[in-house]
Amino acid sequence: MLTQEEITKLSRFERLDSPIVSFYLNLSPEMSWKKVQGVTLKDLMKEGREQIENLALSKQEKGLAIFSQRKNKRFFAYPLYQPLANQVVVDFDIYINPLVNLMGQYHRTCVVTVDQKRARICEFFMGQLEGLMDISDVIPKRVRTGGFMGYGSKNMERHVDEGVHRHLKNVAEKLFEIFKKNHFDDLILGGEKKILPEFESLLHSYLKERIVGHFQIDSEASLTDITAAAQKIEFENKNKRDAELVHQLQIATFKQGGGVIGLDGTLEAISRGHVHRLVVHEDLWRPGVECKPCGQLRVDGTQCPQCDKPLTSVRDIINQAVEHALHQKAEVWYVPPQIPIADGIGAFLRFRVGITELEAVDVKANKKAARRV
Ligand SMILES: [Zn+2]
Repeated sequence: MLTQEEITKLSRFERLDSPIVSFYLNLSPEMSWKKVQGVTLKDLMKEGREQIENLALSKQEKGLAIFSQRKNKRFFAYPLYQPLANQVVVDFDIYINPLVNLMGQYHRTCVVTVDQKRARICEFFMGQLEGLMDISDVIPKRVRTGGFMGYGSKNMERHVDEGVHRHLKNVAEKLFEIFKKNHFDDLILGGEKKILPEFESLLHSYLKERIVGHFQIDSEASLTDITAAAQKIEFENKNKRDAELVHQLQIATFKQGGGVIGLDGTLEAISRGHVHRLVVHEDLWRPGVECKPCGQLRVDGTQCPQCDKPLTSVRDIINQAVEHALHQKAEVWYVPPQIPIADGIGAFLRFRVGITELEAVDVKANKKAARRV
């Protein structure tokens, strides 16, 4: 599972003594898994290939990040539940920008399921659920109505309720301990309808304000069932956040001059290094052209408008746009195609100025450069 600790571990390999290959693979349907194995992974060392084969990837994974250093036999592979642009970078530094970017889009969520005597605390991140703690408390058994010698049943019930209350309190305390260590962003509560409100009332205010959803679930539920319920809530919440982001992009573009929407404008902004956050539809791809010497990206054309060199056609200009943006330390946000954006792409800019003003600045810069030459 890809975690913050893993990212930290990777980022600690500062300058390496031999090159490391950073691969990012898009596992979208058009890129069949056989093709990935046959062509893209040809250069990986044998052990690496075996590890990848053993990952037993399913249809759920939409991406794969691989880091391979031949000399020290270092090899890391992380299946990802989000699509990302295909990239291969060979360098003495590990290239983790795409991973860091991807992780920034997701909320670290804690999922707790409780019943009358048991509880399960899990961490849910980027579509994966991992158990953190199972709690089970001893609660006195409920006696048959009528009770022993016809009295005591009321006492017994109060005793049981107190037992359940103590159990829920225990879970709430353990949960707070975990929160102080793990600092999750969101909290999802699952369990029987009749005990969830009581459990919620026992939570620390820090935890209460992080609740983003509830679900009803049987106490016998498996991790798979819990994952499905958490995924549904996370999916709805992420959709809301994505829709809000696109709304902000529209405001930035049409009211404040701090954004751009549409392929031509976005490619231009990326070519100039003006993008702060790229927003792109998940499944978007289309052919285009690139100037290898100066990095200009265009939808079409044969000659670079910046340096007059011939433009090279690329299979997917969106992939190139994402790659350039990440290299410029811009954020890249993938949003589902159901949220409308013209051409499926746009960007928040680093500067709050209109494109015409940007052009004026660039014309000046070009003139200066020309004079220097
Ligand atoms: Zn050029």
